[in-house]
Amino acid sequence: MTSTIESSATVDLTAPTALDVRTLDPTMHRVVTGDRPTGPLHLGHYIGTLANRVRLQNLGVPVTVIIADYQVITDRAETGPLRNLVRTLIAEYLAAGIDPDRSTIFAHSCVPALGQLMLPFLSLVTDAELHRNPTVKAESLASRRSLSALLLTYPVHQAADILGLGGDLVPVGRDQLPHIELARVIARRFNDRYGQVFAEPQALLTSTPSVLGIDGAKMSKTRGNTILLGATADETAALIRSARTDSLRHITFDPQSRPQVANLLSIVGALSGRDPAVVAEQVGDGGAAALKTLAAEVINESLRELRHQREELLADPSYLDGVLLDGTSRAMAVAGDTLDQVRHAMGMDYLS
Ligand code: ATP
Ligand code: MG
Repeated sequence: MTSTIESSATVDLTAPTALDVRTLDPTMHRVVTGDRPTGPLHLGHYIGTLANRVRLQNLGVPVTVIIADYQVITDRAETGPLRNLVRTLIAEYLAAGIDPDRSTIFAHSCVPALGQLMLPFLSLVTDAELHRNPTVKAESLASRRSLSALLLTYPVHQAADILGLGGDLVPVGRDQLPHIELARVIARRFNDRYGQVFAEPQALLTSTPSVLGIDGAKMSKTRGNTILLGATADETAALIRSARTDSLRHITFDPQSRPQVANLLSIVGALSGRDPAVVAEQVGDGGAAALKTLAAEVINESLRELRHQREELLADPSYLDGVLLDGTSRAMAVAGDTLDQVRHAMGMDYLS
């Protein structure tokens, strides 16, 4: 197969030539990805990863979405209102186009085989490798707590999720690249040591791999700098108006020297399928005010249907719980099979 998806560790799915739909054989791939239930989803999730999940699902690739509940306590002591957050995430996935009949959504804590898989994986990495991970370092710093063993080892946890569920394509934001690299290393080392079991997963980035929040830092639930998918149109417009830009009047697309302006242009570009540089030309001397008006309009228009669906879905929690139950039984079956293969490869299949 000649899909460009196979020839690069990172693929821009929004570029017309990056993913050759005609040559992609959906049966040859499996998407595995997920989010921490630390809060509702934001625009960074939507254009950084969620849109890619939906696109791949619609191409016929099986998609599994993990609600990574154990990862909530990597950088904090409290789990938060998990039951509600999990339901909210499910409603948001479905509203964005994830189809529960074709795709699998489950919560990590419901599938014990994934935790078990982490044990042999821990033996394949050194503590120095884990301490070098830049995303773990950044998250540890941001948490203002001492580094917990769970945060240090969470990339291994994540490798168990991806490999346990047979994922080879992982649509993520840029912060996840070190983790996907580690999952590749773990797959390689396991195969070298025990025989071929795992495919090496590949990260899929979009052209907006790190969407910035209204304060100019990476948009993130815990920073409180987000534009939530569930925000109202008015809230969205007010947040965009308060977003940091710069004092230059003429709008240009220059991600290096004008990151905040480039971020708004990239958001408009990603949501409307246009080149951000062309959007910049269109705004021109209208300055930051015109850019913000345009950005709010495009975001609100693009999310209108999603927001409507989201409200309807949230009104039916028992349906959302059913989606989770269904996804959990599918994930348990796949992860259980992988664990059997791992036990067999390691000579631990005494009972089969
Ligand atoms: P938290 O602050 O709790 O870590 P988060 O906003 O960083 O939350 P995660 O659940 O950690 O969200 O990330 C889920 C997925 O969304 C990951 O693939 C991550 O790379 C992607 N993602 C999160 N924020 C962004 C962003 N600002 N731009 C692009 N992708 C993002
Ligand atoms: Mg995060």
